[in-house]
Amino acid sequence: MALSSRTAPRTPKPTIELEVVSTTRLSPHLVRVRLGGDGFARFQDRVDTDKYAKLKFTTPEGDPVTRTYTIRRVDADAQVLEIDFVVHGDEGLAGPWAASVRPGAALTILGPGGGYAPNPDADWYLFVGDLSAVPAIASALESLATDAVGLAIIEVESADAVLELTAPAGVGVQWIVDPDHEVDRLANAVRAATWRDGHVDVFAHGERESMKALRPALFEERGLERSQVSLSGYWARGRTEDRFQAEKREPVGQFFPEA
Ligand SMILES: Cc1cc2nc3c(=O)[nH]c(=O)nc-3n(C[C@H](O)[C@H](O)[C@H](O)COP(=O)(O)OP(=O)(O)OC[C@H]3O[C@@H](n4cnc5c(N)ncnc54)[C@H](O)[C@@H]3O)c2cc1C
Repeated sequence: MALSSRTAPRTPKPTIELEVVSTTRLSPHLVRVRLGGDGFARFQDRVDTDKYAKLKFTTPEGDPVTRTYTIRRVDADAQVLEIDFVVHGDEGLAGPWAASVRPGAALTILGPGGGYAPNPDADWYLFVGDLSAVPAIASALESLATDAVGLAIIEVESADAVLELTAPAGVGVQWIVDPDHEVDRLANAVRAATWRDGHVDVFAHGERESMKALRPALFEERGLERSQVSLSGYWARGRTEDRFQAEKREPVGQFFPEA
């Protein structure tokens, strides 16, 4: 994740052919696709909770493109991995694919890569994101020690997108329903949150402009160090992922411009 303040070393990612085993609607806005088949044996799991893969698709014009998705869970016993896709309408490739795909369909992935796992030495944890980051946040919450404390703040566009997440008793999960996608909504929720003492470990990912709006709330107002914050955009409103990725080389796509 080039925009993260914790950049993982780049290693070559294997290309793996997988097969859809089953799909489950977790909500009207999120579909879980379980992938297995012979290719699973080549999947090299990672300890990171936000490990992700590049999924290969083809545009209607026949051009190959990739889309980036979190590996929500790996079940080595069942030889399957799970990816949770946001269903965001008819636009795009990955979202519509996941909404309609049936068992037996093929999917080629590159990966996994990764870069974040909760810092076990942190005093408390703060997770911030939208539905696209729920797979990574849910995975991180499940990995925390039972006595961990903190807060997850998740913005969704409607109440029927709210899910039951498994988290330690001391980690609250606050859902914010905002059909208007106000860009400061998450930043203001962070400002309003009870701020605990001690070293906080922050994981904040989601729509790019909402994530950029978090910078003053985290770095200026709370004085956090870059090293304790994993912050990046997962997508950008009105942009395909191709455009979103290309814009990482432009000022609009940069979170921490070089001095
Ligand atoms: C490291 C990483 C991990 C990610 N993990 C996940 C994950 O686990 N699950 C997941 O669903 N997404 C995840 N994403 C985001 C995902 O890659 C993008 O949402 C991607 O653009 C979806 O591709 P698409 O083909 O469906 O739409 P695109 O062709 O890329 O875009 C078409 C249109 O849909 C809009 N759009 C794209 N995504 C969304 C969205 N989430 N909500 C509303 N509108 C949208 C775009 O702005 C554009 O206007 C992750 C991204 C990164 C970088």
